[in-house]
Amino acid sequence: MSTDNDIDCLPWHNPMLAELLDQRSRAALHPSLLIVAPEYAGKQRFAKALAARLLCQQLNTSIEPAQPCGECRGCELFQAATHPDYYRLAVAADRKTIGVDDVRALLQSLQLAAQIGGARVAVIGPAESLTENAANALLKALEEPGSDTYFMLLSQTARAVLPTIASRSQRIVLGLPSQASLATWLARSVEGSSKAAVANAVQRARVYPELALELLGDDSLHSEHAAIADALLGGELSSHALAEKIDQSSLGAFLDTLMLRLLGMLREQLSGIEKGGNPAMTSQTLQTLLDTVLEAKRSLSRSPNTRLCAAELGDRLASIRAEAQYSATH
Ligand SMILES: [Zn+2]
Repeated sequence: MSTDNDIDCLPWHNPMLAELLDQRSRAALHPSLLIVAPEYAGKQRFAKALAARLLCQQLNTSIEPAQPCGECRGCELFQAATHPDYYRLAVAADRKTIGVDDVRALLQSLQLAAQIGGARVAVIGPAESLTENAANALLKALEEPGSDTYFMLLSQTARAVLPTIASRSQRIVLGLPSQASLATWLARSVEGSSKAAVANAVQRARVYPELALELLGDDSLHSEHAAIADALLGGELSSHALAEKIDQSSLGAFLDTLMLRLLGMLREQLSGIEKGGNPAMTSQTLQTLLDTVLEAKRSLSRSPNTRLCAAELGDRLASIRAEAQYSATH
């Protein structure tokens, strides 16, 4: 959905990125960077943008900030998320902190020579999730990181980081955009979004870009789903086309939208509001359609084959519509 390059930082962070790359080109980049910004301000994006540039072996420096070439071995592996010299240490899904064992395992990997022969990058965070032991285990590595090795620690506030870590790091504070630059960036990032939707997302997210992006993405997915649901219920969309249109990951959300649509139609039917609607859509037909969608939701939770599930649902809905149409005209 986003047209922004995956390895770009937010545009208002470009000057900072350019400055750090300039330091690297003069071999003056600090090996431990403490990247500080509130949640939703673009820390991860910034760290990823910098990592991509540190790991590229033929950085294009004719533009500012310099761009990864996209073609070298480093770029290829980074884009495939399989770069052996790039490490991302975060809180595991079933845990609340980053423990000392996690840090030790990372440091052990970093003892090996760089596998691609360029820089090595470890992004760690949220830094406030490091246990005290984990933070202490990191200290020595931050002081003697090894050649061309960079640590990036992500944190919401510098105060939450152990002073011993903060004092061994260069602090990078990422700013928030004005609402105007946020709106410009957002409109460019989410294709086909209306001005009103962008303004609404900016208003709700205030100045937090990643939050605004999330809100706008949800909105545009929701209206896309609503349009598909209407086409499907109106018989304008084949089951094959439905399976093509719905993203694997969003069938569950689409079924929810479809169900809400059907419930709305049923409510209108029962209260007699929609007299001019399709006569075949009796409350009984709507009920049958609703049951079918519910069954699809159940089968989706059992089987991961979303394409098959969408196609079957489309076929079922089409045959219910055809039957209803037949009995309405005979
Ligand atoms: Zn490259």
